[in-house]
Amino acid sequence: MLKKEDKIFKNLYGEDDWSLTGALKRGIWNNTKDLISMGSDNIIDEIKKSDLRGRGGAGFPAGLKWSFMPKDSGKPHYLIVNADESEPGTCKDREILRNDPHLLLEGCLIAGFAMHAHTCYIYIRGEYYNESSNLQKAIDEAYKSNLLGKNACGTNWDFDIFLHRGAGAYICGEETALLESLEGKKGQPRLKPPFPAGSGLYGCPSTVTNVETIAVAPTILRRGANWFSSLGNPKNTGTKIFSISGHVNNPCNVEEEMGIPLKKLIETHAGGVIGGWDNLLAVIPGGASVPLIPKSICDTVKMDFDSLKEAQSGLGTAAVIVMNKSTDIVEAIARLSHFYKHESCGQCTPCREGTGWMYRMMSKMINGNIENDDIDKLLDVTKQIEGHTICALGDAAAWPIQGLIRHFRSEVERRINENISKREVA
Ligand code: SF4
Repeated sequence: MLKKEDKIFKNLYGEDDWSLTGALKRGIWNNTKDLISMGSDNIIDEIKKSDLRGRGGAGFPAGLKWSFMPKDSGKPHYLIVNADESEPGTCKDREILRNDPHLLLEGCLIAGFAMHAHTCYIYIRGEYYNESSNLQKAIDEAYKSNLLGKNACGTNWDFDIFLHRGAGAYICGEETALLESLEGKKGQPRLKPPFPAGSGLYGCPSTVTNVETIAVAPTILRRGANWFSSLGNPKNTGTKIFSISGHVNNPCNVEEEMGIPLKKLIETHAGGVIGGWDNLLAVIPGGASVPLIPKSICDTVKMDFDSLKEAQSGLGTAAVIVMNKSTDIVEAIARLSHFYKHESCGQCTPCREGTGWMYRMMSKMINGNIENDDIDKLLDVTKQIEGHTICALGDAAAWPIQGLIRHFRSEVERRINENISKREVA
């Protein structure tokens, strides 16, 4: 169990004052000037040493990503915070935005300084009305107290933060689609390269990074990289906010140590699976786009990037969707297929045509209304989509189906056989 003193998000549940007064009491903004005086290179080195990996889903090493920003490009540099939290099951950034917005703002100043950026945009999903309202109030408070703006925090570094509300498209959570949207265009992913660090917002060096990643940075610098990396497992360090939903007795968000066993996470914090652990069917451990894992894997798997990768799934956004034996597992995955079909931006053929085709197959599969050969055909189509599209939405659409067939093929076959029997009787 993560000790109380090791928690970074001390107001995760909004029990304390989220405004500047409360934030100062929690130690936020207290010695920010000293942290900035470490200098850009030292800040990035400390983040690298902490082994912090991006909390938005991909798990890319954060310090390395920050170091991709050029030192002197002669152009404006931009820090862009991705607060477009739209992955089904995921609701962790929401708690930071509404209950501890100053933690994020302080992180923005430090990360922005480290990346030579004077401007930060926070792109927040449009549906997060209360969160954007609190965040804007926090930004206003910070400007009034000279924590942001000209000579922010007395550091001689000018730093502005602008809040931008999205309009509700899942694909705008993809970093280059987000940049397009921010520029006022249709939110469609760009081909990479060039990567944002070379040519991002308005063609200038930019880093797009997740809310939680930025919000943990000030605490890492205050308490040191060694403290952060002492938590969790090698290369999977620190604390993490897990969003636990579905068939549990107490759905919740909780900050825990990276690498906590999944069973312990669910039983300690979410009141266990409804009907008991033996009533568990499967878990989607990292938001809708990662493959599900059956109970046999859930019994022992650890909640970190590498352990879940080994289990042929992923930590993703650490949104744990629990399904007990009352779940129609085929229908559940078909529902996700519908989501990805709906959210495809339509730019590339494998995704545009494939997501619709897969959804139609999945819909028929619910009642076993396909042939046995179709299972392998469907699997083959998922492989043709995976890795053959501009952005990761194609993979995200393919992986849940691959997980279903990998672990529940016998259930799919049972439905087909049942349907054949029914037809024969008729
Ligand atoms: Fe658009 Fe899908 Fe291609 Fe991504 S993979 S760019 S969402 S069509």
